[in-house]
Order: sequence, then structure tokens, then C-alpha cells
Amino acid sequence: MHDRKDNDSRKLLRRLKEILAAAGDGQDRLDQITHHIADSMGTEVCSIYLFRDAETLELCATEGLRPEAVHQTRLRLGEGLVGRVARSGRHVNTADAPSEPGFRYMAETGEEVFPSFLGVPIQRVGERLGVLVVQCNDSRQFSEDEVYGLEVVAMVLAEMTELGAFQSSNSDSMPQAHRFPLMIHGSTAQEGAAEGQVWLHEPRVVVTNPVGDDPEKELERLHQGVNKLRERVDSMVSAPDLAGDSDHAAVLETYRMFAHSRSWLKRMEEDIQRGLSAEAAVEKEQSAARSRLEMAADPYLRDRLHDLDDLSNRLLRILTGQGVDTGAELPARPILVARNIGPAELLEYGRRLKGVVLEEGSVGSHAAIVARALAIPLVIHASRITTEALNGDPILVDGDQGLVHLRPEDSVATAFRDKIAMQAEAQNRYASLRNLPATGICGTTVQLYMNAGLMADLPSLEGSGAEGVGLFRTELQFLIRNHVPRRGELAELYRHVTDRAMGKPVMFRTLDIGSDKVLPYMKPQDEPNPAMGWRAIRVGLDKRGVLRMQLQALIRASAGRPLHVMFPFIADMSEYEDAYRILMQELSREQRLGHEMPSDIRVGAMLETPSIAFAPRKFFEMCDFVSIGGNDLKQFFFAADRENERVRRRYDTLNTAFLSLLGQIVERCEEARVPLSFCGEDAGRPIEAVTLAALGIRRLSMRPASIGPVKHLIRRVSISELRKVIDEARDSGLTNLRRPVTEWLARQ
Ligand code: PEP
Ligand code: MG
Repeated sequence: MHDRKDNDSRKLLRRLKEILAAAGDGQDRLDQITHHIADSMGTEVCSIYLFRDAETLELCATEGLRPEAVHQTRLRLGEGLVGRVARSGRHVNTADAPSEPGFRYMAETGEEVFPSFLGVPIQRVGERLGVLVVQCNDSRQFSEDEVYGLEVVAMVLAEMTELGAFQSSNSDSMPQAHRFPLMIHGSTAQEGAAEGQVWLHEPRVVVTNPVGDDPEKELERLHQGVNKLRERVDSMVSAPDLAGDSDHAAVLETYRMFAHSRSWLKRMEEDIQRGLSAEAAVEKEQSAARSRLEMAADPYLRDRLHDLDDLSNRLLRILTGQGVDTGAELPARPILVARNIGPAELLEYGRRLKGVVLEEGSVGSHAAIVARALAIPLVIHASRITTEALNGDPILVDGDQGLVHLRPEDSVATAFRDKIAMQAEAQNRYASLRNLPATGICGTTVQLYMNAGLMADLPSLEGSGAEGVGLFRTELQFLIRNHVPRRGELAELYRHVTDRAMGKPVMFRTLDIGSDKVLPYMKPQDEPNPAMGWRAIRVGLDKRGVLRMQLQALIRASAGRPLHVMFPFIADMSEYEDAYRILMQELSREQRLGHEMPSDIRVGAMLETPSIAFAPRKFFEMCDFVSIGGNDLKQFFFAADRENERVRRRYDTLNTAFLSLLGQIVERCEEARVPLSFCGEDAGRPIEAVTLAALGIRRLSMRPASIGPVKHLIRRVSISELRKVIDEARDSGLTNLRRPVTEWLARQ
């Protein structure tokens, strides 16, 4: 029985292959295909629906329904049973279609006489291309075997669609994959706008032979491919540089498990028996896993499906011989498109990139940090971008709105170019302010510093007009490596940074690892709440070796020049005292060893937890400077995770309670005569920045691109007047000051 089915299936697939090989128009091919499928399956109807645009399916060919309906009948994604198959990526099999939820009757097709319905998605590795349907006029449920058979056929159709087999001489009549404009809503991880061409970080594998001529040969190819894959995974697992990295090793162990999985192999073998080539069989199982992935909510299951996906890609590359390097040239204005990317890989592309679009990623991810340093727009959570985009496709990245326009219509592209031009004009305007101070019309001056952490940041020091680096996040250098940097390496780097600063101060913050910043080579701590866990100075004080090594490197790098050291995440005075003592010990040690001492040393604390705002006065007196880490301070003040999209925008920085806390910190620093700065993201937002200035904060440190807009606003307002507005609004009992502040600014 099975053999007969397999034979029928192979015969049908061979017919499809002949149709693909013969010269012909896309419409012709589709017509022939529907005819052959209906014939082979013994059904009255076979229809093919393809996507006309991202949301609309169109009946493109049919055997059995009214021919007038072809190219007329359209359905929205999710509409009717066909739309349901397309949306879910799963088949619908029913003996009584009209009683199915979501059924929609399309009178023009004459389908009312066919109660049984089987629809399967035409999809390729998560990319939805259309729906293949068979219908019968007797009321029967299709067997599991028939469902499977139709899925195999749909796989071949998907590959044929990808190969352009259904393109028509009349290009308007036939919808085409990868042709229509697509707008994808993602989230913003770095602002800015860019226009360019798609550059796929991992180019797609092209399968040119979806149908296997000889199942025995295809099975052998599959087995050889799988053996090679197993060997590679096994050698990865036993690679010596993995020793001690239990996390990475655990991932590879799951790879090994999948690579040796009998059921995975068995499914692919069955696909081949039905007539698919080895590559198409791998893709079929990969597609099935992808649609399960889209549905899965459980993070563990999602991770495993990801692993399987990655493994399938590796197997496909082995089978097709297609590597990651296709020899294609980077386009003129490359926009990188990837599922995800590591910080080191992104840095390697460097400033050549105009923008980055990721299917996954997170705001606080290392890739996002690098994109920020490179000042290129980054959109994350852009679902299905890697399956929809082709190398070289025109693409617009709107980092402000978190939007991506793939293959945009002319009108969209024109509006977008206007936006880019306006931003460029504003940048020019800001450039003219570069050498002017940020002095309000009341005469108050605010010092504007920049945040940095990578060598890639440093060119901005000059270009932005920053007066120094108010926060140098030293952990970024640790994050982009796959080993702990050595002291000599670090000293060299800090020396270089100090050189580039040319006398401008650089506040080096000692390592803030833990929380979201997990070093690839450090044993991850299984903490229920890492942001409040073992991080920053807590790690530094418990594991003194790394802190001491870093301080030694800083001392050596500053030889004969001033040194600013800042300790992160001080939540209790004693932590600052301990860290300070370690620094002093290292200074005497370095002096004893004969290293040149810094000409001046200033030590500061980051104020990132509400507790330290209430520390004894002595704490403030001990500090040479204090810097408010507003990102953390705000998350702990409101108990709202800065990384959690659901809550992170819920509480406003201009909330009266938060501003009152900041006001108190200003007073305490004034009392102790210690300089105060603010270095969280809010410092770079013009409205927030003038508000902070009005509260009495005289130094703001922000990303370089924000210095122009912030300076522009400060120079146009009276900071002392704004202070009065804030005090009055607060006294009147308002719980949020955004409205009075923005209204007052609008009047200026
Ligand atoms: C902050 O918390 O505001 C800060 C500047 O530090 P980071 O963003 O690196 O945690
Ligand atoms: Mg912080």
C-alpha cells in the first residue's frame, strides 16, 4: 500500500519536474500542475492560491472550480479556510467545509458542491508563499497519507515558486514572491533612518532540484550529509576551547542530540521516498519546525526549535555545497539583515553598514550596543525579514519608529527620503553649534559629554563637540571578545582612548558585568533576577582579581596624565569605601613597581540605586564626583525592568516623584560640594535634558548623536525660568510635569 502511494507520489513529482524543465509561461505551468494533482489524487478540484501581497491571497489556477474566478477570487490572510491555512502554516482537513469555523463561501468559484476540503500551506523555511487545495464532491475526510502526499507536493511548488517558475509574461497577472512591497513592524533599538540595499548576513540556500530522480541515490546523499553533520557537531562538542563554558557546551549537546535523532532522519527519509530530493526533504522538515516555532510560546521549546533550524541550515549547506560566502559583493549602501548577530561580527562590518535589521535581538543586546556606537539605525523583532528579503532588495530602515519598508513603493521611498534629508539638514544645523557652549539664555552653562565604550565611538569625540567622555563603559571591550582581555591589552586600549581624547577627561567606569551583560566566556549565573543580582561592583569586590587587573591597566595607561575612575552600581557606602581602598592599594603597588603615576586621580561613584541617594553625607564627601545612572536608577525607583517592553515606557522620567528624587540628589551633592552628572539615556533626550539642567544638574553625558539636538534646545531657553515652571507645577500637585514643561517649551 505504502509502496503504491510512494510510486504515485514520485510519478506526480516527476511530472512536476518535467513541467518545470519545459519552456512555458507561469500560468500554463500552474494550469497543468493543478490538472495533474487533481488527477493523481482523484479529486474533483485542485486549486493554487498565491500571495499577491503580504496580506492577500489570490486564486491563481484551478482544476474544477469556475475558470472565471482565476485571478478574481481574493482572500485576506486569515480569511476563510484558505486564509486560515496560510496564517497558521498548518493544513486544514475537513469532510464538511461549510461547518468549519471561519469558512467563507465564494460564490464566483462554484465551490458549494464540494464539501470536503484539504488545504496545505505552500511555504519554504517559514516563508509563506500560498496555499494548495484539493476538494471533493463526496463528503469524506482525507487520510493522513493523502495529507502527507499533498504536503510533499506543496514543498515542490514552494521551491518552484522560489525558482521563478510561475512568473508570467504578463507580469501583472501573476503574483510573485519577493516582489511585492512589505512593511514590517519591529521595535526600535537605535534611532535614525537609512536607505539602502539588503545584505543578508547568512545568504539563503537555493535548492535547484526539489525533485529526486532516484530515491536510493537521494537517500545515500542524505545519509552522507547527515554523517558529515554529525562529525562536525561531534568535533565542536569536544573542541578544547569549550572547556569550562558549560552554556555553550549545553547548546552543542542539544545539537548533537538532534543530529543523531532517529525521528528527524526518518521523516526526511519518508519525504525522499515520496519523491523529494534530499535538500527539499531537509527544507520540508525545517519549514514544519519553523511554523511550530512561530506558534510556540514556551521559551525552552522555542530555543530547541531554533537549534533544529540552525542544524537544518548546516545540513542544507553541506548538501548543496553552498557556503556562507557566495562571492557576492557588498552593495553600495548595505543594510544588514540577519536573524541575530554577535557584537564582534557586527563590528567587523563596521561603519560600512548603513543600517541593521534583525529578526530577533533586544534593546540591551550587545549587537544593539555596537549599533549605537557605530551610530547606525537598528530595528529588532522584524519578523520574517530573513525569509522575505533577497540580497540587493531596496530597503528603508526607520529606526525612530521601528519600521522596515522592504521593496518600498515609490511614494513611500520619496517620503522617506524627505525624512532623511530633514535629519541631515538638522545635523548640519547642529554641526554649526559644535564649538559653541551649551549656555541657556539665562547664562547657565551645561557641560555636554558623550558616552562611549568602543574604539568605534572615538571619532565622535571630535565630531560631536563633546567636552569629554562622561561614561566609558569598559565592559563592552570584554563583551566583544571571546576571552578575558589581558592586562597589557587593556592598558594599550585605555592608552589609546586617552590619546584620542587629547586632554579631554574620560570617566572610565570599571566593569559592569552581570545583569544583561553576560560575558560569553564567563560561567552564567543562574539568577532569578539578574538586574538585581550579582553584577557590577558586587562582582568586582567578590572577585577582586579582575577589578585589580583593570585598575592596574588604567593606572598604566594614564601614566603622567589625569585619570578618572568611576565605580558602578554602588548601593551602600561601604562598597565605595572598599573599592576606593583597592584602587589606592593598586596605586601604591604600581608605584612600587616603578610605573609612572597619573598626574591627578579623581574617583567617582555611579548613583544607580535609590538607597545611595540616602547615604550618609560622608559618602558624598568622599567622592570626587557622582554620576547618576538614570537607566538603572529609574528602573529601581519604579520597579520597572528597563529591558521589558511591556513596562519600560510605563513610567515617565518627568514623573514628579522621580524628579523629586533627582532634586534631592542635587541638593545633597551641593551640600557636599561634589560635582554631579547624569549619564543615562534620558540625558540625550532634549526635553528630559533641559529638565535635568533646570533641576541643577550641570553635566550631562549622552550618546554623541544627541549632543547637537540637546545643545540646540538648551541654547534657546532660560534654564532658570524653566526651574520656576517646574517648581510651580510641582507645588500645584501635578504628578507628571511633561505637559507644563512641553507647553512652556513650545511657547519659547
Ligand atoms: C545607567 O544605568 O544609567 C547607566 C548609564 O549604566 P548602564 O546603562 O551601562 O547600566
Ligand atoms: Mg547602569
